[in-house]
Amino acid sequence: MVMKFICDDMLGKLARWLKIMGFDTYYEIDLPDNKLLKIALAEDRIILTRDSKIPKIRNAKNFVWIFSSDPLEQLKEVVQKLKLKIEPEKFFTRCLECNGVLEKTDKEKVKDKVWPYVYKTQENFVICPECKKVYWEGTHVGRMKKRLQEITHQIV
Ligand SMILES: [Zn+2]
Repeated sequence: MVMKFICDDMLGKLARWLKIMGFDTYYEIDLPDNKLLKIALAEDRIILTRDSKIPKIRNAKNFVWIFSSDPLEQLKEVVQKLKLKIEPEKFFTRCLECNGVLEKTDKEKVKDKVWPYVYKTQENFVICPECKKVYWEGTHVGRMKKRLQEITHQIV
């Protein structure tokens, strides 16, 4: 079974890293505890939290306590505690805004959605079917991939 996550609102950066790595991760700024618990139960998501209140609330059976305040250390905690398998082919397959699964799109279709320079210099685009955000493999992705390799090396 594929694990799915929901992060409390103190774990925005961790949520971002998990999404970059392709893990299904729900995150919302200022998400109230009761809504977080509701979503976790309804969607069968593991709660990742630094909030000491949450594990005390009844029904919160599926959670992982995060101790570190450093996002990469947090990622390490999640990966190690849940024995997550890191699959590089899943990197950059999720929308960082809304967690949607990105889809390949034709270049022409994104012409009015990206800067002219980007359109001119990039060939491969993906789009989020949920929020319509367009992504492309710019230099930042190259840098991030390198960083991810380093991180993966450190945490597994
Ligand atoms: Zn999206």
